[in-house]
Amino acid sequence: MRMTTDGLIVREQFTGESTRIITVLTREHGLIRAFSPGARSLKSKYVSSTQLLCFSKLSLAESKGIYRVESASPIDVFFELRNDVVKLSLAQYFCELAMFFTPEEDDCTELLRLLLNAIKFLEKEMHSPAKLKATVELRILSLTGYLPDLVGCRDCANFSQDTYYFDPIAGTVQCEACAQLSGTAGIRISYAVFCAMRHIIYSEFQKIFSFKLSPAAELELEQVSEEYLLAHAERNFTTLQFYHSL
Ligand SMILES: [Zn+2]
Repeated sequence: MRMTTDGLIVREQFTGESTRIITVLTREHGLIRAFSPGARSLKSKYVSSTQLLCFSKLSLAESKGIYRVESASPIDVFFELRNDVVKLSLAQYFCELAMFFTPEEDDCTELLRLLLNAIKFLEKEMHSPAKLKATVELRILSLTGYLPDLVGCRDCANFSQDTYYFDPIAGTVQCEACAQLSGTAGIRISYAVFCAMRHIIYSEFQKIFSFKLSPAAELELEQVSEEYLLAHAERNFTTLQFYHSL
């Protein structure tokens, strides 16, 4: 069986000089692992289109559940990303998140779009890394069954207080008065960050990156998003640890 698909290469494993195994995030088929030519293969002209973080059109042959890349042509290689270790490591973290959270054999149109947009904005410096990281984290979780409930305070439903407390396990918020009354302590977030989180999870895809925060609030958003993500992934990510070490 043969198929043609667009996909973002989210992982590249070297098995020998003539073969590699790539993991591709595709629109219609979720994640696909495929054998791909290595640098010394006769088909090595396809190597540049099947490297990590390339978005390419791929022609795949399948036999007994094993895929092979027959041909590949690049759509976007995000060239400028590759000269900046901070950008590159954050993009690799996005790929690791996609690999961890992508449902098997499922439609991944929005997930792929989210990653492609975030990587493009990162490459072109159209939004800060902190904002892009938080947006990807919260939206990936929302898409894969971990949608937090941020309509308002979980106890009194108020949604216009200056301060909220976010519970990363339950994915709910409390206003200051209700948190004091119940004696629970979540992560303290400002109203601006509460609104940004609501925006990321509830708005239409086209608008998810269109919000503004001060640099300090962006860092607050980044921290709360990461805590929520790690609480639900129940593991750490090597690419995230590397990003923080820079
Ligand atoms: Zn309340």
